[in-house]
Amino acid sequence: MKVRLAKTAGFCMGVRRAMEITLSEANKGDGKLFTYGPLIHNRQVLDLLRSKGVDVKEDIEAHDKGRIVVRAHGITPTERKAIQSSDFKIIDATCPRVAKVQGIIKQYNTKGYTPVIFGDAHHPEVIGLMGYSQGQGIVISSAEDVTTLPEEKRFVVVSQTTQDVDTYREICSAIKARFPEAVIFDTICDETYTRQKEVRSLAAQVDSMVIVGGYKSGNTMRLYQIARSTGKPAFHIETEGELKDSWFSSAGTVGVTAGASTPNWMIKKVIERLRTMGKRKQSFASLLTKGYQFLVKTNIPDAVGAFSLTYAGLILYRGSAPLIYPILTMLYVYGMHVLNRFLDKEASRYNDPGVALFYAQHKVFLIGTALSGLGGGIIISLYLGLPQFLLFLALTILGLVYSVPIIPWRLGYLGRYAKIKDLPGSKTMAEALAWGTISSLLPVIGWPNPVWPGVLASFLFVSSMCYVRCGLLDILNIQGDLIVGRETLPIALGEERALKLLLSSNAFFGLLLLLSAALKIVSNLGYPLLICFLNSFFYLTAYQKDWVRGGSHLQALAEANLLLAGLFALAWNIL
Ligand code: SF4
Repeated sequence: MKVRLAKTAGFCMGVRRAMEITLSEANKGDGKLFTYGPLIHNRQVLDLLRSKGVDVKEDIEAHDKGRIVVRAHGITPTERKAIQSSDFKIIDATCPRVAKVQGIIKQYNTKGYTPVIFGDAHHPEVIGLMGYSQGQGIVISSAEDVTTLPEEKRFVVVSQTTQDVDTYREICSAIKARFPEAVIFDTICDETYTRQKEVRSLAAQVDSMVIVGGYKSGNTMRLYQIARSTGKPAFHIETEGELKDSWFSSAGTVGVTAGASTPNWMIKKVIERLRTMGKRKQSFASLLTKGYQFLVKTNIPDAVGAFSLTYAGLILYRGSAPLIYPILTMLYVYGMHVLNRFLDKEASRYNDPGVALFYAQHKVFLIGTALSGLGGGIIISLYLGLPQFLLFLALTILGLVYSVPIIPWRLGYLGRYAKIKDLPGSKTMAEALAWGTISSLLPVIGWPNPVWPGVLASFLFVSSMCYVRCGLLDILNIQGDLIVGRETLPIALGEERALKLLLSSNAFFGLLLLLSAALKIVSNLGYPLLICFLNSFFYLTAYQKDWVRGGSHLQALAEANLLLAGLFALAWNIL
Protein backbone atom coordinates (compact mmCIF):
# COMPACT_ATOMS: atom_id res chain seq x y z
CA MET A 1 0.00 0.00 0.00
CA LYS A 2 1.22 3.48 -0.81
CA VAL A 3 1.74 5.66 2.25
CA ARG A 4 1.78 9.45 2.24
CA LEU A 5 3.15 11.09 5.33
CA ALA A 6 2.01 14.59 6.27
CA LYS A 7 4.93 17.04 6.28
CA THR A 8 3.81 18.35 9.64
CA ALA A 9 3.47 14.97 11.40
CA GLY A 10 5.17 14.60 14.76
CA PHE A 11 6.72 16.78 17.44
CA CYS A 12 6.03 20.50 17.21
CA MET A 13 8.80 22.95 18.00
CA GLY A 14 7.73 23.37 21.65
CA VAL A 15 7.44 19.66 22.40
CA ARG A 16 10.69 18.82 20.61
CA ARG A 17 12.44 21.55 22.59
CA ALA A 18 10.99 20.25 25.87
CA MET A 19 12.02 16.67 25.02
CA GLU A 20 15.55 17.77 24.11
CA ILE A 21 15.90 19.81 27.29
CA THR A 22 14.64 16.90 29.41
CA LEU A 23 16.81 14.26 27.73
CA SER A 24 19.91 16.49 27.91
CA GLU A 25 19.27 16.92 31.65
CA ALA A 26 18.71 13.16 32.07
CA ASN A 27 21.97 12.43 30.24
CA LYS A 28 23.86 14.73 32.64
CA GLY A 29 22.96 12.31 35.43
CA ASP A 30 23.20 15.18 37.88
CA GLY A 31 20.83 13.98 40.65
CA LYS A 32 17.13 13.17 40.58
CA LEU A 33 15.11 14.55 37.65
CA PHE A 34 11.35 15.09 37.51
CA THR A 35 8.88 16.65 35.12
CA TYR A 36 6.11 18.74 36.64
CA GLY A 37 3.20 16.67 35.35
CA PRO A 38 3.62 14.32 32.37
CA LEU A 39 5.98 15.94 29.86
CA ILE A 40 3.68 15.07 26.95
CA HIS A 41 0.52 13.08 26.40
CA ASN A 42 2.17 10.03 25.01
CA ARG A 43 2.36 6.83 27.04
CA GLN A 44 5.30 5.33 25.14
CA VAL A 45 7.42 8.47 25.52
CA LEU A 46 6.61 8.63 29.24
CA ASP A 47 7.68 4.99 29.64
CA LEU A 48 10.91 5.80 27.85
CA LEU A 49 11.57 8.82 30.08
CA ARG A 50 10.90 6.68 33.14
CA SER A 51 13.47 4.17 31.89
CA LYS A 52 15.95 7.05 31.79
CA GLY A 53 15.22 7.92 35.41
CA VAL A 54 12.83 10.82 34.72
CA ASP A 55 9.82 10.63 37.03
CA VAL A 56 6.59 12.61 36.99
CA LYS A 57 5.84 14.88 39.95
CA GLU A 58 2.30 16.16 40.34
CA ASP A 59 2.58 18.03 43.68
CA ILE A 60 5.43 19.95 45.21
CA GLU A 61 6.25 19.29 48.85
CA ALA A 62 8.52 21.37 51.07
CA HIS A 63 11.28 18.76 51.46
CA ASP A 64 11.48 17.96 47.70
CA LYS A 65 14.80 18.43 45.97
CA GLY A 66 16.46 17.69 42.67
CA ARG A 67 15.73 19.13 39.24
CA ILE A 68 12.25 19.63 37.87
CA VAL A 69 11.33 20.35 34.25
CA VAL A 70 8.44 22.70 33.55
CA ARG A 71 6.81 21.22 30.45
CA ALA A 72 5.94 23.02 27.19
CA HIS A 73 2.40 23.81 28.47
CA GLY A 74 3.82 26.09 31.18
CA ILE A 75 2.60 26.56 34.77
CA THR A 76 0.78 29.16 36.86
CA PRO A 77 2.76 31.85 38.72
CA THR A 78 1.59 30.26 42.02
CA GLU A 79 3.02 26.89 41.02
CA ARG A 80 6.28 28.53 39.98
CA LYS A 81 6.55 30.21 43.39
CA ALA A 82 5.89 26.89 45.15
CA ILE A 83 8.68 25.21 43.19
CA GLN A 84 11.04 28.11 43.80
CA SER A 85 10.44 27.89 47.54
CA SER A 86 11.32 24.16 47.54
CA ASP A 87 14.83 22.80 46.96
CA PHE A 88 14.08 22.07 43.33
CA LYS A 89 16.13 23.60 40.55
CA ILE A 90 13.69 24.67 37.81
CA ILE A 91 14.51 23.65 34.26
CA ASP A 92 12.08 25.76 32.27
CA ALA A 93 10.91 24.12 29.04
CA THR A 94 7.78 26.28 28.62
CA CYS A 95 7.20 26.71 24.90
CA PRO A 96 8.12 30.32 23.94
CA ARG A 97 4.78 30.61 22.11
CA VAL A 98 2.84 29.60 25.22
CA ALA A 99 4.95 32.03 27.25
CA LYS A 100 3.87 34.77 24.80
CA VAL A 101 0.18 34.05 25.49
CA GLN A 102 0.87 34.09 29.23
CA GLY A 103 2.48 37.52 28.71
CA ILE A 104 -0.58 38.85 26.83
CA ILE A 105 -2.93 37.77 29.62
CA LYS A 106 -0.71 39.24 32.32
CA GLN A 107 -0.31 42.54 30.47
CA TYR A 108 -4.02 43.06 29.69
CA ASN A 109 -5.17 41.79 33.05
CA THR A 110 -3.17 44.51 34.80
CA LYS A 111 -4.87 47.06 32.48
CA GLY A 112 -8.27 45.90 33.74
CA TYR A 113 -9.26 43.56 30.89
CA THR A 114 -10.90 40.24 31.63
CA PRO A 115 -9.17 37.37 29.81
CA VAL A 116 -11.40 35.05 27.76
CA ILE A 117 -9.57 31.86 26.90
CA PHE A 118 -10.85 29.50 24.22
CA GLY A 119 -9.78 26.00 25.21
CA ASP A 120 -10.23 23.00 27.41
CA ALA A 121 -10.52 24.16 31.04
CA HIS A 122 -8.77 21.00 32.26
CA HIS A 123 -5.82 21.21 29.88
CA PRO A 124 -2.55 22.09 31.64
CA GLU A 125 -1.83 24.92 29.20
CA VAL A 126 -5.22 26.53 29.95
CA ILE A 127 -4.75 26.00 33.69
CA GLY A 128 -1.37 27.74 33.35
CA LEU A 129 -2.88 30.62 31.35
CA MET A 130 -5.71 31.05 33.88
CA GLY A 131 -3.05 31.46 36.56
CA TYR A 132 -1.95 34.72 34.88
CA SER A 133 -5.49 36.17 35.03
CA GLN A 134 -5.53 36.50 38.82
CA GLY A 135 -8.66 34.39 39.05
CA GLN A 136 -10.61 36.57 36.58
CA GLY A 137 -10.23 34.55 33.41
CA ILE A 138 -13.17 32.88 31.70
CA VAL A 139 -12.72 29.68 29.69
CA ILE A 140 -15.08 29.08 26.79
CA SER A 141 -15.25 26.23 24.34
CA SER A 142 -17.68 27.34 21.60
CA ALA A 143 -19.32 30.36 19.94
CA GLU A 144 -22.51 29.61 21.92
CA ASP A 145 -20.58 30.23 25.16
CA VAL A 146 -20.11 33.87 24.10
CA THR A 147 -23.75 34.52 25.07
CA THR A 148 -22.84 33.65 28.68
CA LEU A 149 -20.15 36.37 28.97
CA PRO A 150 -21.11 39.23 31.35
CA GLU A 151 -22.20 42.44 29.64
CA GLU A 152 -20.19 45.11 31.45
CA LYS A 153 -16.62 43.71 31.01
CA ARG A 154 -13.71 44.69 28.75
CA PHE A 155 -12.30 41.52 27.27
CA VAL A 156 -8.99 40.34 25.94
CA VAL A 157 -9.44 37.13 23.94
CA VAL A 158 -6.85 34.40 23.40
CA SER A 159 -6.91 30.73 22.48
CA GLN A 160 -5.15 27.66 23.77
CA THR A 161 -2.35 27.23 21.22
CA THR A 162 -3.54 23.86 19.94
CA GLN A 163 -7.25 24.61 19.48
CA ASP A 164 -9.32 24.27 16.33
CA VAL A 165 -8.83 27.23 14.00
CA ASP A 166 -12.36 27.28 12.58
CA THR A 167 -14.07 27.20 15.98
CA TYR A 168 -11.83 30.05 17.18
CA ARG A 169 -12.80 32.09 14.11
CA GLU A 170 -16.49 31.57 14.96
CA ILE A 171 -15.86 32.55 18.57
CA CYS A 172 -13.96 35.69 17.54
CA SER A 173 -16.81 36.76 15.19
CA ALA A 174 -19.38 36.20 17.96
CA ILE A 175 -17.30 38.22 20.44
CA LYS A 176 -16.70 41.06 17.95
CA ALA A 177 -20.45 41.22 17.26
CA ARG A 178 -21.31 41.43 20.95
CA PHE A 179 -18.26 43.30 22.27
CA PRO A 180 -16.79 45.51 19.51
CA GLU A 181 -14.20 46.84 21.97
CA ALA A 182 -12.78 43.41 22.76
CA VAL A 183 -9.07 42.96 22.03
CA ILE A 184 -8.55 39.70 20.15
CA PHE A 185 -5.25 37.90 19.66
CA ASP A 186 -4.63 35.09 17.21
CA THR A 187 -2.71 32.78 19.50
CA ILE A 188 -3.33 29.46 17.79
CA CYS A 189 0.12 28.23 17.04
CA ASP A 190 1.17 28.22 13.36
CA GLU A 191 2.20 24.61 13.77
CA THR A 192 -1.31 23.66 14.87
CA TYR A 193 -2.89 25.65 12.06
CA THR A 194 -0.62 24.14 9.37
CA ARG A 195 -1.09 20.65 10.78
CA GLN A 196 -4.89 20.93 10.70
CA LYS A 197 -4.85 22.45 7.21
CA GLU A 198 -2.62 19.67 5.93
CA VAL A 199 -4.88 16.93 7.33
CA ARG A 200 -7.77 18.34 5.31
CA SER A 201 -5.80 18.48 2.08
CA LEU A 202 -4.07 15.14 2.63
CA ALA A 203 -7.38 13.40 3.38
CA ALA A 204 -8.71 14.65 0.03
CA GLN A 205 -5.85 12.89 -1.82
CA VAL A 206 -5.88 9.46 -0.12
CA ASP A 207 -8.29 6.58 0.48
CA SER A 208 -8.04 6.60 4.27
CA MET A 209 -6.22 8.37 7.08
CA VAL A 210 -4.24 7.13 10.06
CA ILE A 211 -3.63 9.51 12.96
CA VAL A 212 -0.85 8.49 15.32
CA GLY A 213 -0.71 9.80 18.87
CA GLY A 214 -1.76 9.40 22.48
CA TYR A 215 -5.45 8.79 23.24
CA LYS A 216 -5.24 11.55 25.83
CA SER A 217 -3.54 14.02 23.51
CA GLY A 218 -6.01 16.82 22.73
CA ASN A 219 -4.30 17.95 19.55
CA THR A 220 -4.13 14.37 18.21
CA MET A 221 -7.85 13.92 18.87
CA ARG A 222 -8.57 17.15 17.00
CA LEU A 223 -6.58 15.89 14.00
CA TYR A 224 -8.62 12.70 14.12
CA GLN A 225 -11.91 14.65 14.25
CA ILE A 226 -10.84 16.82 11.31
CA ALA A 227 -9.83 13.74 9.30
CA ARG A 228 -13.19 12.10 10.02
CA SER A 229 -15.06 15.27 9.12
CA THR A 230 -13.70 14.98 5.55
CA GLY A 231 -15.75 11.79 5.08
CA LYS A 232 -12.72 9.54 4.55
CA PRO A 233 -12.26 6.52 6.85
CA ALA A 234 -9.93 7.67 9.65
CA PHE A 235 -8.23 5.63 12.39
CA HIS A 236 -6.62 6.92 15.55
CA ILE A 237 -3.87 4.65 16.89
CA GLU A 238 -1.11 4.90 19.46
CA THR A 239 1.19 2.21 18.05
CA GLU A 240 1.64 0.19 14.86
CA GLY A 241 0.41 -2.93 16.70
CA GLU A 242 -3.16 -1.55 16.60
CA LEU A 243 -3.34 -1.42 12.79
CA LYS A 244 -5.81 -3.92 11.28
CA ASP A 245 -5.63 -5.35 7.76
CA SER A 246 -9.42 -5.09 7.40
CA TRP A 247 -9.23 -1.27 7.65
CA PHE A 248 -7.32 -1.05 4.39
CA SER A 249 -8.71 -3.92 2.33
CA SER A 250 -9.69 -1.59 -0.52
CA ALA A 251 -7.25 1.25 0.12
CA GLY A 252 -4.52 1.96 -2.42
CA THR A 253 -3.10 5.00 -0.65
CA VAL A 254 -3.23 5.88 3.01
CA GLY A 255 -2.36 9.24 4.55
CA VAL A 256 -0.54 9.39 7.88
CA THR A 257 -0.26 12.26 10.28
CA ALA A 258 0.56 12.50 13.96
CA GLY A 259 -0.07 14.72 16.94
CA ALA A 260 2.44 17.24 18.25
CA SER A 261 3.48 14.83 20.99
CA THR A 262 4.23 11.80 18.77
CA PRO A 263 7.92 11.04 18.31
CA ASN A 264 9.41 10.25 14.90
CA TRP A 265 10.32 6.68 15.74
CA MET A 266 6.68 5.81 16.45
CA ILE A 267 5.54 7.36 13.17
CA LYS A 268 8.26 5.46 11.28
CA LYS A 269 7.13 2.16 12.81
CA VAL A 270 3.56 2.83 11.69
CA ILE A 271 4.72 3.64 8.16
CA GLU A 272 6.86 0.50 7.95
CA ARG A 273 3.88 -1.61 9.01
CA LEU A 274 1.41 0.14 6.66
CA ARG A 275 3.67 -0.46 3.69
CA THR A 276 3.19 -4.18 4.13
CA MET A 277 -0.63 -3.93 4.31
CA GLY A 278 -3.59 -3.37 1.97
CA LYS A 279 -3.71 -3.48 -1.79
CA ARG A 280 -0.34 -4.03 -3.49
CA LYS A 281 -0.02 -1.89 -6.60
CA GLN A 282 3.50 -2.00 -8.01
CA SER A 283 4.15 1.07 -10.13
CA PHE A 284 7.62 1.72 -11.53
CA ALA A 285 8.04 4.66 -9.14
CA SER A 286 7.06 2.55 -6.11
CA LEU A 287 9.50 -0.17 -7.17
CA LEU A 288 12.25 2.44 -7.48
CA THR A 289 11.43 3.83 -4.02
CA LYS A 290 11.44 0.33 -2.53
CA GLY A 291 14.74 -0.44 -4.21
CA TYR A 292 16.30 2.73 -2.86
CA GLN A 293 14.92 2.07 0.65
CA PHE A 294 16.40 -1.42 0.54
CA LEU A 295 19.79 -0.07 -0.53
CA VAL A 296 19.75 2.56 2.24
CA LYS A 297 19.16 -0.17 4.82
CA THR A 298 22.17 -2.08 3.56
CA ASN A 299 24.45 1.02 3.61
CA ILE A 300 25.27 0.48 -0.05
CA PRO A 301 24.62 4.14 -1.04
CA ASP A 302 27.19 5.24 1.59
CA ALA A 303 29.75 2.82 0.20
CA VAL A 304 29.09 3.83 -3.42
CA GLY A 305 29.24 7.49 -2.34
CA ALA A 306 32.64 6.86 -0.76
CA PHE A 307 33.82 5.18 -3.98
CA SER A 308 32.63 8.14 -5.98
CA LEU A 309 34.17 10.74 -3.68
CA THR A 310 37.55 8.97 -3.68
CA TYR A 311 37.48 8.81 -7.46
CA ALA A 312 36.78 12.56 -7.66
CA GLY A 313 39.40 13.34 -5.00
CA LEU A 314 42.09 11.41 -6.89
CA ILE A 315 41.34 13.04 -10.24
CA LEU A 316 41.35 16.38 -8.50
CA TYR A 317 45.04 16.17 -7.51
CA ARG A 318 46.66 13.54 -9.68
CA GLY A 319 44.61 13.66 -12.88
CA SER A 320 43.97 9.91 -12.88
CA ALA A 321 42.22 7.49 -10.55
CA PRO A 322 43.37 3.86 -10.40
CA LEU A 323 40.11 2.10 -9.41
CA ILE A 324 41.84 0.05 -6.72
CA TYR A 325 41.72 3.07 -4.36
CA PRO A 326 37.99 3.90 -4.72
CA ILE A 327 37.28 0.17 -4.29
CA LEU A 328 39.37 0.10 -1.11
CA THR A 329 37.46 3.09 0.33
CA MET A 330 34.15 1.52 -0.65
CA LEU A 331 34.94 -1.74 1.15
CA TYR A 332 36.15 0.16 4.23
CA VAL A 333 33.06 2.39 4.44
CA TYR A 334 30.67 -0.51 3.89
CA GLY A 335 32.32 -2.71 6.54
CA MET A 336 32.63 0.08 9.11
CA HIS A 337 29.11 1.42 8.68
CA VAL A 338 27.48 -2.00 8.94
CA LEU A 339 29.54 -3.12 11.97
CA ASN A 340 29.01 0.21 13.74
CA ARG A 341 25.27 -0.14 13.24
CA PHE A 342 25.44 -3.42 15.18
CA LEU A 343 27.62 -1.90 17.87
CA ASP A 344 25.21 1.00 18.14
CA LYS A 345 21.83 -0.66 17.63
CA GLU A 346 20.14 1.20 20.50
CA ALA A 347 20.19 4.53 18.64
CA SER A 348 18.95 2.84 15.43
CA ARG A 349 15.89 1.56 17.30
CA TYR A 350 14.73 5.14 17.72
CA ASN A 351 16.28 6.90 14.73
CA ASP A 352 15.21 4.34 12.17
CA PRO A 353 13.17 1.40 13.47
CA GLY A 354 12.85 -0.04 9.94
CA VAL A 355 16.63 -0.24 9.60
CA ALA A 356 16.95 -1.70 13.11
CA LEU A 357 14.45 -4.43 12.18
CA PHE A 358 16.24 -5.11 8.90
CA TYR A 359 19.54 -5.49 10.80
CA ALA A 360 17.98 -7.86 13.30
CA GLN A 361 16.46 -9.98 10.50
CA HIS A 362 19.59 -10.16 8.33
CA LYS A 363 22.24 -10.20 11.01
CA VAL A 364 24.32 -13.07 9.65
CA PHE A 365 24.26 -11.83 6.07
CA LEU A 366 25.16 -8.26 7.01
CA ILE A 367 27.94 -9.15 9.43
CA GLY A 368 29.26 -11.68 6.91
CA THR A 369 29.37 -9.15 4.06
CA ALA A 370 30.84 -6.42 6.32
CA LEU A 371 33.66 -8.71 7.48
CA SER A 372 34.23 -9.89 3.91
CA GLY A 373 34.43 -6.25 2.82
CA LEU A 374 37.01 -5.44 5.47
CA GLY A 375 38.85 -8.70 4.68
CA GLY A 376 38.89 -7.72 0.99
CA GLY A 377 40.21 -4.29 2.00
CA ILE A 378 43.02 -5.89 4.00
CA ILE A 379 44.04 -8.06 1.02
CA ILE A 380 43.99 -5.06 -1.35
CA SER A 381 45.99 -2.91 1.05
CA LEU A 382 48.54 -5.74 1.47
CA TYR A 383 48.83 -5.90 -2.31
CA LEU A 384 49.50 -2.14 -2.37
CA GLY A 385 52.30 -2.44 0.20
CA LEU A 386 53.09 -2.71 3.89
CA PRO A 387 52.55 1.01 4.74
CA GLN A 388 49.13 0.98 3.02
CA PHE A 389 48.24 -2.22 4.88
CA LEU A 390 49.27 -0.75 8.25
CA LEU A 391 47.29 2.43 7.62
CA PHE A 392 44.20 0.47 6.55
CA LEU A 393 44.51 -1.77 9.60
CA ALA A 394 44.92 1.23 11.93
CA LEU A 395 41.81 2.90 10.44
CA THR A 396 39.83 -0.33 10.77
CA ILE A 397 40.84 -0.81 14.42
CA LEU A 398 40.07 2.84 15.19
CA GLY A 399 36.69 2.51 13.44
CA LEU A 400 35.77 -0.49 15.58
CA VAL A 401 37.17 0.81 18.88
CA TYR A 402 35.18 3.99 18.23
CA SER A 403 31.89 2.39 19.35
CA VAL A 404 33.30 0.10 22.05
CA PRO A 405 33.62 1.20 25.74
CA ILE A 406 37.29 1.66 26.58
CA ILE A 407 36.87 3.52 29.89
CA PRO A 408 34.91 1.73 32.65
CA TRP A 409 31.70 3.44 33.81
CA ARG A 410 32.82 3.27 37.41
CA LEU A 411 35.48 5.91 36.69
CA GLY A 412 32.89 8.55 37.57
CA TYR A 413 32.85 11.59 35.29
CA LEU A 414 35.40 10.07 32.90
CA GLY A 415 33.08 7.08 32.55
CA ARG A 416 30.59 9.33 30.74
CA TYR A 417 33.10 9.26 27.89
CA ALA A 418 33.56 5.48 27.91
CA LYS A 419 33.68 5.32 24.09
CA ILE A 420 35.51 7.63 21.69
CA LYS A 421 32.16 8.43 20.10
CA ASP A 422 30.89 9.74 23.47
CA LEU A 423 33.22 12.73 23.10
CA PRO A 424 30.99 15.67 22.10
CA GLY A 425 30.80 16.07 18.33
CA SER A 426 33.47 13.40 17.72
CA LYS A 427 31.39 11.24 15.39
CA THR A 428 31.10 13.79 12.59
CA MET A 429 34.78 14.74 12.80
CA ALA A 430 36.07 11.15 13.11
CA GLU A 431 34.09 9.98 10.10
CA ALA A 432 35.22 12.93 7.98
CA LEU A 433 38.89 12.40 8.89
CA ALA A 434 38.69 8.66 8.22
CA TRP A 435 37.12 9.22 4.78
CA GLY A 436 39.68 11.93 3.95
CA THR A 437 42.60 9.76 5.06
CA ILE A 438 41.64 6.62 3.19
CA SER A 439 40.51 8.53 0.08
CA SER A 440 43.29 11.05 -0.33
CA LEU A 441 46.25 10.19 1.92
CA LEU A 442 46.49 6.41 1.55
CA PRO A 443 46.86 6.59 -2.28
CA VAL A 444 49.81 8.99 -1.92
CA ILE A 445 51.91 6.46 -0.01
CA GLY A 446 54.71 5.24 -2.24
CA TRP A 447 53.87 7.78 -4.91
CA PRO A 448 57.03 9.60 -6.07
CA ASN A 449 57.06 13.37 -5.44
CA PRO A 450 53.44 13.96 -4.45
CA VAL A 451 52.30 17.56 -4.75
CA TRP A 452 51.29 18.08 -1.14
CA PRO A 453 49.17 21.23 -1.55
CA GLY A 454 47.05 19.32 -4.09
CA VAL A 455 46.84 16.28 -1.80
CA LEU A 456 45.76 18.52 1.06
CA ALA A 457 43.12 20.25 -1.11
CA SER A 458 41.73 16.84 -2.11
CA PHE A 459 41.78 15.65 1.53
CA LEU A 460 39.84 18.77 2.59
CA PHE A 461 37.37 18.36 -0.26
CA VAL A 462 36.56 14.75 0.64
CA SER A 463 36.52 15.38 4.40
CA SER A 464 34.31 18.46 4.13
CA MET A 465 31.77 16.69 1.89
CA CYS A 466 31.62 13.85 4.41
CA TYR A 467 31.53 16.24 7.40
CA VAL A 468 28.53 18.20 6.12
CA ARG A 469 26.64 15.05 5.10
CA CYS A 470 27.33 13.35 8.43
CA GLY A 471 26.41 16.55 10.34
CA LEU A 472 23.04 16.68 8.59
CA LEU A 473 22.34 13.02 9.41
CA ASP A 474 23.20 13.75 13.06
CA ILE A 475 20.66 16.59 13.05
CA LEU A 476 18.03 14.28 11.55
CA ASN A 477 18.81 11.64 14.18
CA ILE A 478 18.81 13.97 17.16
CA GLN A 479 15.81 12.35 18.90
CA GLY A 480 17.26 8.84 19.00
CA ASP A 481 20.75 10.07 19.83
CA LEU A 482 19.45 12.07 22.78
CA ILE A 483 17.54 9.06 24.06
CA VAL A 484 20.63 6.87 24.06
CA GLY A 485 22.78 9.70 25.46
CA ARG A 486 25.04 10.29 22.47
CA GLU A 487 26.78 13.65 22.22
CA THR A 488 26.69 14.29 18.50
CA LEU A 489 27.45 17.69 16.99
CA PRO A 490 23.87 19.08 17.17
CA ILE A 491 23.46 17.78 20.73
CA ALA A 492 26.74 19.33 21.88
CA LEU A 493 26.16 22.68 20.11
CA GLY A 494 22.39 22.82 19.76
CA GLU A 495 20.69 22.30 16.41
CA GLU A 496 20.75 25.91 15.28
CA ARG A 497 24.43 26.43 15.97
CA ALA A 498 25.31 23.06 14.44
CA LEU A 499 23.49 24.07 11.25
CA LYS A 500 25.33 27.40 11.17
CA LEU A 501 28.63 25.59 11.66
CA LEU A 502 27.86 23.19 8.80
CA LEU A 503 26.81 26.04 6.51
CA SER A 504 29.94 28.07 7.27
CA SER A 505 32.26 25.04 6.91
CA ASN A 506 30.60 24.29 3.59
CA ALA A 507 31.13 27.87 2.39
CA PHE A 508 34.73 27.94 3.68
CA PHE A 509 35.78 24.66 2.04
CA GLY A 510 33.94 25.59 -1.17
CA LEU A 511 35.96 28.83 -1.36
CA LEU A 512 39.14 26.90 -0.61
CA LEU A 513 38.45 24.58 -3.54
CA LEU A 514 37.73 27.55 -5.80
CA LEU A 515 41.04 29.11 -4.76
CA SER A 516 42.91 25.82 -5.24
CA ALA A 517 41.51 25.49 -8.76
CA ALA A 518 42.26 29.14 -9.60
CA LEU A 519 45.87 28.76 -8.36
CA LYS A 520 46.25 25.46 -10.28
CA ILE A 521 46.87 23.57 -7.03
CA VAL A 522 44.22 21.12 -8.22
CA SER A 523 42.95 20.32 -11.70
CA ASN A 524 40.12 22.25 -13.40
CA LEU A 525 37.76 19.60 -12.06
CA GLY A 526 37.72 21.85 -8.98
CA TYR A 527 35.32 24.21 -10.79
CA PRO A 528 32.48 21.75 -11.53
CA LEU A 529 32.93 20.20 -8.08
CA LEU A 530 31.85 23.53 -6.60
CA ILE A 531 28.32 22.46 -7.57
CA CYS A 532 28.56 19.81 -4.83
CA PHE A 533 29.07 22.60 -2.27
CA LEU A 534 26.06 24.41 -3.73
CA ASN A 535 24.03 21.24 -3.38
CA SER A 536 25.15 20.86 0.26
CA PHE A 537 24.16 24.48 0.81
CA PHE A 538 20.78 23.71 -0.74
CA TYR A 539 19.97 20.68 1.42
CA LEU A 540 21.15 22.36 4.63
CA THR A 541 19.06 25.44 3.84
CA ALA A 542 16.12 23.24 2.83
CA TYR A 543 16.24 21.70 6.30
CA GLN A 544 16.76 25.04 8.03
CA LYS A 545 13.84 26.71 6.23
CA ASP A 546 11.65 23.64 6.44
CA TRP A 547 11.32 23.40 2.65
CA VAL A 548 11.74 19.64 2.75
CA ARG A 549 10.25 17.65 5.59
CA GLY A 550 11.07 14.00 6.10
CA GLY A 551 14.64 12.89 6.71
CA SER A 552 14.71 10.35 3.88
CA HIS A 553 14.48 13.01 1.15
CA LEU A 554 17.26 15.06 2.69
CA GLN A 555 19.36 11.95 3.18
CA ALA A 556 18.85 11.05 -0.49
CA LEU A 557 19.98 14.56 -1.50
CA ALA A 558 23.09 14.25 0.67
CA GLU A 559 23.97 10.81 -0.74
CA ALA A 560 23.32 12.02 -4.30
CA ASN A 561 25.86 14.77 -3.75
CA LEU A 562 28.65 12.23 -3.36
CA LEU A 563 27.58 10.47 -6.56
CA LEU A 564 27.48 13.80 -8.33
CA ALA A 565 31.15 14.40 -7.46
CA GLY A 566 32.08 11.04 -9.02
CA LEU A 567 30.01 11.73 -12.15
CA PHE A 568 31.67 15.10 -12.65
CA ALA A 569 35.08 13.45 -12.26
CA LEU A 570 34.17 10.70 -14.72
CA ALA A 571 32.94 13.20 -17.29
CA TRP A 572 36.04 15.35 -16.78
CA ASN A 573 38.27 12.28 -17.21
CA ILE A 574 36.53 11.14 -20.41
CA LEU A 575 36.38 14.59 -22.00
S1 SF4 B 1 1.79 23.56 19.55
FE1 SF4 B 1 2.90 25.43 19.21
S2 SF4 B 1 2.61 26.59 21.10
FE2 SF4 B 1 2.03 24.50 21.57
S3 SF4 B 1 3.89 23.60 22.37
FE3 SF4 B 1 3.87 23.19 20.17
S4 SF4 B 1 5.04 24.87 19.26
FE4 SF4 B 1 4.50 25.47 21.33
